[in-house]
Amino acid sequence: MTAIREIRARMVLDSRGFPTVEADCTLADGSSGTAMVPSGASTSKAEALELRDGGPFWKGKGVEKALENLRGEIAPMLIGSDARDQQDIDRRLREADGTPNKSRLGANAILAVSMATCRAAANSCGLPLYRYIGDSSSVRLPIPLLNVINGGAHADNDINVQEFMLAPTGFEDFPTALRAGVEVYQTLKGRLKEKGLVTAVGDEGGFAPDFASDELVLEELAAAIDEAGYTLGHDQQFTFALDVAASELFSDGKYHLASHLESMTSEQMIDHWVALADKFPFTSIEDALDEEDWSGWSLLTSRLEGIRLVGDDLFATDPKRIARGVEQGAANALLVKLNQIGTVSETLQAIQVASDAGFRIIISHRSGETEDDMIADLAVATGAGWIKTGAPCRSERNAKYNRLLRIHEQLGSSALLGPLKF
Ligand code: PGA
Ligand code: ZN
Repeated sequence: MTAIREIRARMVLDSRGFPTVEADCTLADGSSGTAMVPSGASTSKAEALELRDGGPFWKGKGVEKALENLRGEIAPMLIGSDARDQQDIDRRLREADGTPNKSRLGANAILAVSMATCRAAANSCGLPLYRYIGDSSSVRLPIPLLNVINGGAHADNDINVQEFMLAPTGFEDFPTALRAGVEVYQTLKGRLKEKGLVTAVGDEGGFAPDFASDELVLEELAAAIDEAGYTLGHDQQFTFALDVAASELFSDGKYHLASHLESMTSEQMIDHWVALADKFPFTSIEDALDEEDWSGWSLLTSRLEGIRLVGDDLFATDPKRIARGVEQGAANALLVKLNQIGTVSETLQAIQVASDAGFRIIISHRSGETEDDMIADLAVATGAGWIKTGAPCRSERNAKYNRLLRIHEQLGSSALLGPLKF
């Protein structure tokens, strides 16, 4: 009954207006699943490859080649396979591609099929996706990390850090945490307007006003939290989270910060983050150093013991890179992006490797997104306890928050918030 009967695919637009791949998978019993793949902008060199056409159309970002591979090679190969055997489906996709970074068939083609198959199997079993990927103990909703101010390569200002996130860490349940985050976001918007600063939003729904330094942004966020009637601090209602995306600041062996005239060594960057973490309460700092600065990461991790140091570009959701991080004490948390590795089961394997090592797990969107909300289910399925999916603004971001509100309702009184281990 769960044998794959048909796989179809088409081009749809992502949140930046660029093409992406959507796949449908239909099973022998008539159940089906549809999935769309996201797309990053500040990507790691270690990521699986998104196949793009080049050429004159769509500014080179067409996905016709990926669709041809999907229709001509992937679909015929998988017809008749059992959709419930996700591991086997993903292994065959990987082997058929035959490259280390899924560059022949395209990670966009591969992931669309992997996700659509997973959804079809869940529908066939009559289970919500979080319950199908997880089990009856999957009742933990994630704490949302809301990216409300943008800098770095994502904005035209002197802010070094790419993402400033509100972490509503001190709330009982998901709807209350989300409400508090939204109230601070709206309060922040009012404060920026009053100051005559821009409140147009960036790709992830955060504001990108002109601030002269990272510290001034954090002070503004602290004031917005206070004005909205909430408290900030470790063991209070809110903490902060950062995504530095430091690979974007690194060239010729040095870090170049817009707010600093002199370039910085790895040790100076570490001093900089240690000093900032002394002043402000961070629950996590992501990509504080370059993706190949492994020794710097080990030093940073030993110096900032109380803070979760998140590897995004560093790990690229790759179990092998995560294992290296565990071995070297580089980072203590994993950012999870399905399209960095390119299949559902390798993503689950990456989460397993990291959580076995006691790493914090944060399920993440990409800056280019769609209305696909699988990451909300993935967060609940794995009990990750954390999700990063932008500001509470723009429907491709809110699709994930809204899915979590629905899951919360379904779980009723059994729903929990946050990770088992903080
Ligand atoms: P990306 O950015 O999706 O453009 O890579 C998000 C991030 O760096 O976490
Ligand atoms: Zn990142």
